[in-house]
Amino acid sequence: MTRVLVTGGSGFLGSHLCDRLLARDMEVLCVDNYFTGRKQNIKHLLNNPSFEVLRHDITFPLFVEVDQIYNLACPASPIHYQFDPVQTTKTSVIGAINMLGLAKRLKIRILQASTSEVYGDPEVHPQTEDYWGRVNPIGIRSCYDEGKRCAETLFFDYQRQHGLDVKVMRIFNTYGPRMHPNDGRVVSNFIVQALKGDDITIYGDGSQTRSFCYVDDLIDGMVGMMNSREGFAGPVNVGNPGEFTMLELAEKVIGLVGGTSRITYQALPQDDPKQRQPDISLAKSELGWEPKVALEDGLKETIAYFRNILEK
Ligand code: NAD
Ligand code: UDP
Repeated sequence: MTRVLVTGGSGFLGSHLCDRLLARDMEVLCVDNYFTGRKQNIKHLLNNPSFEVLRHDITFPLFVEVDQIYNLACPASPIHYQFDPVQTTKTSVIGAINMLGLAKRLKIRILQASTSEVYGDPEVHPQTEDYWGRVNPIGIRSCYDEGKRCAETLFFDYQRQHGLDVKVMRIFNTYGPRMHPNDGRVVSNFIVQALKGDDITIYGDGSQTRSFCYVDDLIDGMVGMMNSREGFAGPVNVGNPGEFTMLELAEKVIGLVGGTSRITYQALPQDDPKQRQPDISLAKSELGWEPKVALEDGLKETIAYFRNILEK
């Protein structure tokens, strides 16, 4: 059996990844410090003999024996990664060094969950992997953006310097069941607000765009990247190219949930990117991957999830 380490395994994406790997008959070691992850996300796996959990902060060295590493540990939502920005950078940078060191000792493949944030507020649209990005090094998003950029540097230096087998994927905004209801991300915010009949809070004038990928599609892409041909390290964009303004998203959510919520406008946070859309040509050619779930269908699943947890 292949033994797989998933850091950040009790988070939103990590828990879905654990599900998928176990379904593929792998043994999973989930490592998490529960900063933003929740035991609830992995509760259904605790009786599975192929699943193991370890409470651990990846900014400290980890000594385990595994065959593959997926490095997902890092808060991903702006309010969470800005809560303790120094720890966010430490998690990205020192965490990456620790996980790369582990991969080097074991001579195993390691995948990094990087982000479209490495492109910052981009001048190139849609974003291709060869675009170097436009990132403010000293702003409130920098702990995350620069931390993730430095982690990418480390991955490619470990590859060049130590011949390590690395895989780097740049994840664009992903949504779905198990998002944290209070994590402040736009999809969870709008759905929870609509379900409670609260105002829908659009930051700025709502003309900024994002491209939203449903979690099942994203996990397909992630597993595809881990199992991609030897020598292909990426970085590769994984996301859904369907691009929407935040106003369009608000209207879609209100339309699907129904109810009485009205749209209100609040100040745009500093350095909020104006547009974001992945060019996924590379993922298509290298991984044979493209997303299948339309925004409306994914939103329906996510709404059903939040409706259920809010009723409890
Ligand atoms: P999440 O916050 O739900 O999951 C992150 C997990 O990492 C949590 O379980 C958290 O407790 C854990 N964690 C944080 N710091 C840790 C540390 N020092 N040691 C051990 N565990 C730690 O977020 P997510 O959306 O599931 O994101 C997972 C990964 O994917 C992150 O690396 C994120 O940067 C990346 N990503 C996500 C998105 C997205 O839209 N969801 C987009 C781009 C990149
Ligand atoms: N946003 C919004 N209302 C909210 C939460 C977010 O209008 O209640 C906007 C936010 O300013 C950004 C976009 O939605 O322009 C996506 O925000 P999110 O935090 O989900 O992701 P990121 O900015 O990291 O892509």
